[in-house]
Amino acid sequence: MRNATVSRDGGRWYISFCVEDAVAEAAPNGKRPVGADRGVAVAVATSDGGLYDRVFASPGETARLKRLQQRLSRSLCVHGRNRRSKRRDVVRARLGRLHARIRSRRADFAAQTAVRLVRDHGLVAVEDLRVRNMTVSASGTADRPGRNVRAKAGLNRAILDKGWGGLLLALEHAARYHGATVVKVNPAFTSQTCNACGHVARESRESQAVFRCVACGHEAHADVNAAKNILAAGLAVTGRGDLAAGRSVKRQPPERLAACTRLSHGNPHL
Ligand SMILES: [Zn+2]
Repeated sequence: MRNATVSRDGGRWYISFCVEDAVAEAAPNGKRPVGADRGVAVAVATSDGGLYDRVFASPGETARLKRLQQRLSRSLCVHGRNRRSKRRDVVRARLGRLHARIRSRRADFAAQTAVRLVRDHGLVAVEDLRVRNMTVSASGTADRPGRNVRAKAGLNRAILDKGWGGLLLALEHAARYHGATVVKVNPAFTSQTCNACGHVARESRESQAVFRCVACGHEAHADVNAAKNILAAGLAVTGRGDLAAGRSVKRQPPERLAACTRLSHGNPHL
């Protein structure tokens, strides 16, 4: 065992440890490459038209989340500290459990989506999170107008945005076992570039779901168009354009690497 970490999340204790699992990395699976985008209309869209989505918080949970958060902030201000702090602990615990439930759904979604992607594809191109973080703002980025201000699905969006890092980790982990490679690309302009003619224009992004090129008239699902651009960037970065033609990759000797496992110990009283 290499190391262990103990953490607490919404009333549950977790121990994470890193071990040499002695599982050989799978040989490249030789399957076709794919680009995956954090969609605006759906959670994850792929260059071959795949749309992966999930509701992370039900309308009832969303309302409850809001209510608990309001109660928590209200209890901060007035009255005797001791009487209030006990009530505060109760609210905080409820809030923590709700957040934990949403987090575990997000983790499930990430794990399932990741496995499907690396099982069916030899290369998965995704946005580089670090680059995205530099360009993001509360009012949406220039590249993705209004992404963060959309009222509908706003909460799910925020929840998924937080989970994108988790999806990348899940992808990299699963890729080892399924013979796939994960490539991170600069996401700039992927949503405003026409995949058919290469024209870049903000106006082509007609709505959250529709892309219609102002130069050539090409029309596509906006998230799928972006995923196609991410795939093209990924193939350019790796110099593996040959993959697009469906030719198999060179086989590399398997390597032994470390894998991380997370065990949960649920507290039955919570
Ligand atoms: Zn075009």
